[in-house]
Amino acid sequence: MSPRSTLGPKRRNQSVLAEVAALADRIDALERQQQQLKRTLHAISREAGVSIGSPCVRCHGSYTIVKNGCLSCPACGFMESL
Ligand SMILES: [Zn+2]
Repeated sequence: MSPRSTLGPKRRNQSVLAEVAALADRIDALERQQQQLKRTLHAISREAGVSIGSPCVRCHGSYTIVKNGCLSCPACGFMESL
């Protein structure tokens, strides 16, 4: 038996609600951080003269980079001319 099962139903409910609220806070923070990183990445790519492509179809580990008519994946090294 898990320690939580010794709590009464009301306390168990409060505990679940607190966990859901904590998860919602974490999701909010992650979404905010993802937006910040996305904006920074786009600004850097503009300065570097490259474009950010779609996620790599081979490894799904990164977005692809488009430069000089060539598409490449920084995660797996996949490369393709456009
Ligand atoms: Zn890849």
